[in-house]
Amino acid sequence: GALVEVDGIHVRYGDLVALRDVSLSVAEGEVVCIIGPNGAGKSTALTAIAGGVAPYAGDIRVGGVSVLGLRPEQVARLGLSLVPEGRHIFGTLTVEENLRIGGYIQGDRAAAKADMERLLALFPRLAERLRYPAGRLSGGEQQMLAVARAVMTRPRLLLVDEPSLGLAPRIIDQIYEILLDLRQRAALTLLINEQSSNRILKHADRIYVLRGGRVQLEGPAADLRDGE
Ligand code: ADP
Ligand code: ADP
Repeated sequence: GALVEVDGIHVRYGDLVALRDVSLSVAEGEVVCIIGPNGAGKSTALTAIAGGVAPYAGDIRVGGVSVLGLRPEQVARLGLSLVPEGRHIFGTLTVEENLRIGGYIQGDRAAAKADMERLLALFPRLAERLRYPAGRLSGGEQQMLAVARAVMTRPRLLLVDEPSLGLAPRIIDQIYEILLDLRQRAALTLLINEQSSNRILKHADRIYVLRGGRVQLEGPAADLRDGE
């Protein structure tokens, strides 16, 4: 089966139904993008996969294991790491300290050090700023740090919530280059939320369009590239 299988989930916050009968799947090694406007339910979908919010109907499986009833830490152990919107880096800690936190989550110190060195080769801007307080980095650098820190936990599946938000086109392209590079080098599967398909279609294998909590459209990104 697929690495991620979301099977007809419904999620609500109080009276508000955020997801209605949403199904999606991500195969090992794929780059899948969920596209939709603000409020469509994209964050809710990623959060549900990561075990942060429970659907009241439907099922979610990661690597064949249902995440329902698991706490987010338990879901993370299935090999998943979430880069939340807003980045959530520790602004008063240095770049290096932020990366070490990812390494501690992974556990093995020697492996974490080796991972950090390998990883920093992909992020020269971070490598030059290891002793900077992370809060002083630019928005693009903070986004790169958030991605790098998530990768330090050695996930096989990376969930990334709106990595483009508020960033210049050139920086967005750099972030996608790094994500796709990591996909190859670290055998990552990627599920990425974005509001607009403009810069994403050329990078994604498949997309889902989410609107009002429902999947409106799904298909290979290549089909949509032509019609734009
Ligand atoms: P998107 O990521 O596509 O912007 P969200 O998943 O964040 O969409 O939100 C979907 C809907 O659920 C929106 O109407 C939003 O206001 C609502 N929502 C999201 N998170 C919460 C929450 N923690 N409590 C209540 N409502 C929420
Ligand atoms: P090993 O470290 O045992 O040689 P791999 O090189 O296959 O094994 O990598 C295992 C894990 O290390 C991957 O799942 C990934 O999380 C991480 N990793 C691999 N390559 C990189 C890289 N270039 N940057 C960051 N992390 C990496």
